[in-house]
Amino acid sequence: MSAGSGFAQESALGRQAGEGQNDKFSVSLDDGCQVEAVWYPTGTLCLSTQVGCAMGCPFCASGRNGLLRSLGVEELHHQLATARLRGHHIERITLSGIGEPLQALTTVEAFVASVELPVSVTTSGQPLTALKRFLMARHNGLMLSVHAGTAAVHRQLVPRGPDFEALWRLLAQQWPLLSRRRRRKIGINYLLLAGVNDTAEELAALTERLQGFPEITLHLLTWNPVEGQPWRSPGDATMAAVADGLRVQGLNVRLANRWRRQALGGCGTLVSQGQAARPGTA
Ligand code: SF4
Repeated sequence: MSAGSGFAQESALGRQAGEGQNDKFSVSLDDGCQVEAVWYPTGTLCLSTQVGCAMGCPFCASGRNGLLRSLGVEELHHQLATARLRGHHIERITLSGIGEPLQALTTVEAFVASVELPVSVTTSGQPLTALKRFLMARHNGLMLSVHAGTAAVHRQLVPRGPDFEALWRLLAQQWPLLSRRRRRKIGINYLLLAGVNDTAEELAALTERLQGFPEITLHLLTWNPVEGQPWRSPGDATMAAVADGLRVQGLNVRLANRWRRQALGGCGTLVSQGQAARPGTA
């Protein structure tokens, strides 16, 4: 961490982890902003890359107040140091908290280069120029949050994400350039929302898209409730049936683990605070 970073001396700490529980905590930054991070009992630490987020995904609490600013590399190290101060053993890091990492690409690249742990990234793919660069860069995993089989549903769920056709075109262009090992580190995130993207039509369109990428793993996620939002995940039995149906089509499918599904620190539930945060954009 940069000695000149002058961080606020105290982090506003969240709830302590109980036995086998996630530990979600907030970290105070120099300018009075706060971001949240989560340690999972699996040894994964999830860090934020921005104060807020500009992507406007309507199911996500993190982007509700729009984007205030990107974090600097020392601010990512500050989150890591705070997790260690809280006594956590950390085996790997995922940049899947608040923000779109590709919009903080300089920070993300500097962080990956300066940390001794494997780092993965979760991204909408926006901007595509940064995605193209990061596909070839050092990382331990790149999860693309697509959440749709068709452009119309993608526009609804990731409204400021990349153009859907251009995203798949870029992936198809870059795929032959990636080693098999690197290809296996690419995943597609699909947050299954009842009545929105769990239809046979939507899933068939997704299956067709993925036929050209046999090494990709599809991660089926459940929605972690955010106050005041109307979304709903299908029940566990439906999730399992969807996963089985997609496996029959030849896809590699994983269901979200239980840590990512806790109300405390589950995906999409992190929030930031900033002095100049704009009113909701989602
Ligand atoms: S899901 Fe990710 S990209 Fe979308 S608003 Fe939330 S933090 Fe931003």
